[in-house]
Amino acid sequence: MNIEKIMHNLEKKNPGEVEYLQAVREVLESIEDIYNENPQFESGNIIDRIIDPDRIFTFKISWVDDNGKVHVNRGYRVQFNNAIGPYKGGLRFHPSVNLSILKFLGFEQIFKNSLTTLPMGGAKGGSDFDPKGKSNGEIMRFCQGFMMELWKIIGPETDVPAGDIGVGGREIGFLYGMYKKLARENSGVLTGKGLNWGGSLIRPEATGFGTVYFADEMLKTKGESFAGKIVALSGFGNVAWGAAIKATELGAKVVTISGPDGFVFDPDGISGEKIDYLLELRASNQDIVKPYTYEFPSAQFHQGKHPWEVKCDIALPCATQNELNKEDAQHLVNNGVLCVAEGANMPSTPEAVEVFLDHKILFAPGKAVNAGGVATSGLEMSQNSMKLSWPMSEVDTRLHQIMCSIHEQCVKHGTDANGYVDYVKGANIAGFLKVANAMLDQGVV
Ligand code: NDP
Repeated sequence: MNIEKIMHNLEKKNPGEVEYLQAVREVLESIEDIYNENPQFESGNIIDRIIDPDRIFTFKISWVDDNGKVHVNRGYRVQFNNAIGPYKGGLRFHPSVNLSILKFLGFEQIFKNSLTTLPMGGAKGGSDFDPKGKSNGEIMRFCQGFMMELWKIIGPETDVPAGDIGVGGREIGFLYGMYKKLARENSGVLTGKGLNWGGSLIRPEATGFGTVYFADEMLKTKGESFAGKIVALSGFGNVAWGAAIKATELGAKVVTISGPDGFVFDPDGISGEKIDYLLELRASNQDIVKPYTYEFPSAQFHQGKHPWEVKCDIALPCATQNELNKEDAQHLVNNGVLCVAEGANMPSTPEAVEVFLDHKILFAPGKAVNAGGVATSGLEMSQNSMKLSWPMSEVDTRLHQIMCSIHEQCVKHGTDANGYVDYVKGANIAGFLKVANAMLDQGVV
């Protein structure tokens, strides 16, 4: 495999798509050896076929705000690869959304979904719509407009979207309501649904819980655990709150949360009623970071800073892509961090990853660590197909088993001669092999 040539061609076809190119390069570098050892991949031209999405849809959403003003946003769905199951991946509503970001996320999703052991292909979608500061009515009208286009290309056996940044239970509800009206069916077409209408127990917490289950497996390889550890995490969204709850439950103290404008450090720990308060703020669409410090004076707000400067044992970046840079990684290492597990997708820059790997820190990438979200979406799809609901304990047990299995696959494919586990390599190889072999089995389509 000639990585530079592949990247050169990809860059020519996708100029300036930084995040997408970054994600592809990382995977190619990890799988190079295994690819070269298996000539059938080259003769099937698997690389060219896997790095380009199957298809991309873009569409316009016109909607009216509460003052009667008309707005226009752009919507996307990137259907990347369906070799092992229906396209599956979240929808992101955020002003930063563009094709590069959705292609990077869709590409990552192929390997993540493969790792879960469940039959799901890779996809991603969303819009540059900003839900922040919008009323419920505005969000509903936007979601309805979005679904007026999206419903034509999704279905329970073709493409099953879910939430991501800016898309939580409320948005999934509005999207599902409109899909049901248009398609005239109640089906598992979206995951992250409400419990009363087809949702699965544990799905809201699943990505955060899974993140902690995975990190716990990493710690066990060093004879360590969460008990008594200090945890720094970023963001406070769908992923971070579940991670904060589970880390606390396992005996750790979570001391940071963050937003785009800075982070909060609470030396007393962020748990219990503090988490309830944060969730209330989130539900009412308010900024959460600064109000937290007014309510709990033990906490300090650090404007424009990242939580990674705080001394911690475990770092869980749970906010967004490229939020942890080389300098942040160096801070964490200098402060003796034991484990860095990515709850978000690609939160560490390639330079930061290099620092972690050079210092042989326990470090694992989002596609392995945060796969519990989509895995539980897969469990939601199974329950929808069977028209039944599993109890909480059953979903949680399955989630836990899946996270342990992903960890085993990473160890199997990522352990080097000195016993160090390169989780990036392990996750990429394990995820790739399953999809590539499925593509070969199914011929050139
Ligand atoms: P949310 O929108 O629920 O939460 C994101 C959080 O990060 C918010 O608290 C947000 O603050 C904060 N944030 C956004 N930008 C920055 C920034 N530049 N610096 C610091 N904080 C920031 O999103 P999710 O929790 O759903 O997703 C977070 C990450 O996890 C994404 O990478 C997503 O792709 C990934 N992921 C999500 C899954 C899920 O189940 N939801 C599944 C797997 C991965 P504010 O609200 O103030 O903007």
